[in-house]
Amino acid sequence: MSLITVGTMAFDAIETPFGKVDRIVGGSATYVAYAASNFLQPVQQISIIGNDFPQEELDSLQARGVKIDGVEQVKDKKSFFWSGRYHTDMNTRDTLVTDLNVLADFNPIVPDSYQGSEFLMLGNLMPKLQLSVINQMKERPKLIVMDTMNFWMDIAMDDLKEVLKKVDVLLVNDGEARQLSGEYSLVKAARAILNMGPKFLIIKKGEHGALLFHENHVFFAPALPLEDVFDPTGAGDTFAGGFIGHLAKTKDISFNNMKTAIIVGSALASFCVEKFGPERLKEITKEEIDDRISQFVQLVNFDIDLV
Ligand code: AMP
Repeated sequence: MSLITVGTMAFDAIETPFGKVDRIVGGSATYVAYAASNFLQPVQQISIIGNDFPQEELDSLQARGVKIDGVEQVKDKKSFFWSGRYHTDMNTRDTLVTDLNVLADFNPIVPDSYQGSEFLMLGNLMPKLQLSVINQMKERPKLIVMDTMNFWMDIAMDDLKEVLKKVDVLLVNDGEARQLSGEYSLVKAARAILNMGPKFLIIKKGEHGALLFHENHVFFAPALPLEDVFDPTGAGDTFAGGFIGHLAKTKDISFNNMKTAIIVGSALASFCVEKFGPERLKEITKEEIDDRISQFVQLVNFDIDLV
C-alpha cells in the first residue's frame, strides 16, 4: 500500500504565549510525513526546498521511511518561510509573514517510481499545484484527501474550487469552512461544500475536536483535553497524516473506518502540540500512540438508557 504526500517543507517562526522560536523546520508536508510514517512506509514525498534546508532533517525523514525522490532542492534560493503568532486561546493565530521563496516557481513532478500509489494526500499548497499532481497520476488513486487554508481562499479561490471537484475528502478548519461556503452554520457550510465535489468533509475545530460530514451523516471526535499546549503549529497537518495513514494502512475507505481515522488523526495531533515544531512527532512510539487512542475511547465512552 503506498501513499503520496504533497505540500510545503519550510522554516517557521512561531510565537505562542509559552515562547518563541525564530527558525524551526515545518511545512505541511513535513508534518504529514512524520505523522503518516507511523502507519505505513514508504511515504512518498513531493515538495521543494531551498539551499538552507538542513540535511539532518532530510536524513531524519528518510530514516522513518519517507522517500524524497520527489523533493526538489533549489541551490540558489531559500526554503518557504512562514511566521505566525497565536492568540492566548491558542485556537486562533495571525499569519505575520508568508515568504514563498522556492515555492514561487515550483512545478511539482510525480516521479515514475511514485506512479500507481493508491492514496494521495494533497497537503496545504497552491491549489494549482495540487491540481497538477492529480493530473499527473496515470491511474487515479483510490482516495484523494486535500487540505488547504484561508491564505489560498483569499488569493486563489477559483483554482481551489477546481481542485475540489477532483478530491474525495476535504479538510478545513471552521473559519475556512465558513469562508469557502459563505455560510455561518457549519451544517449549512458542510452541505454547500459537499456540493462542490468532495464526498467527505472534515471540519477541524482545534481544541474543540473535529466533525466528519458525509451525505446526511455527521460524526464528532473530540480533541484530548491537554494540560499544556505549547505550539499548535502543524496540528492540522499532523491530523491529516494520521487520518490518511490509518486509511492507507487498513485499506478501508468506508465512512465507518473514517470515524476511526479521525480519532487516530486527533491522537497524533495531540502529540504535535506538546512541543515546538515537529519535535514531539519525532519521539513518539507505537505504544504511546496506542495508549493515547485508548484515552480517546475512554473520553467518549458512556452508557445511556433511553426509557
Ligand atoms: P497547520 O498549523 O496545520 O495549519 O500548519 C502549519 C504549517 O503550514 C507550518 O509549518 C507552515 O510552514 C505551513 N504553511 C503556512 N502557510 C502555508 C501556506 N500558505 N501554504 C502551505 N503551507 C503553509
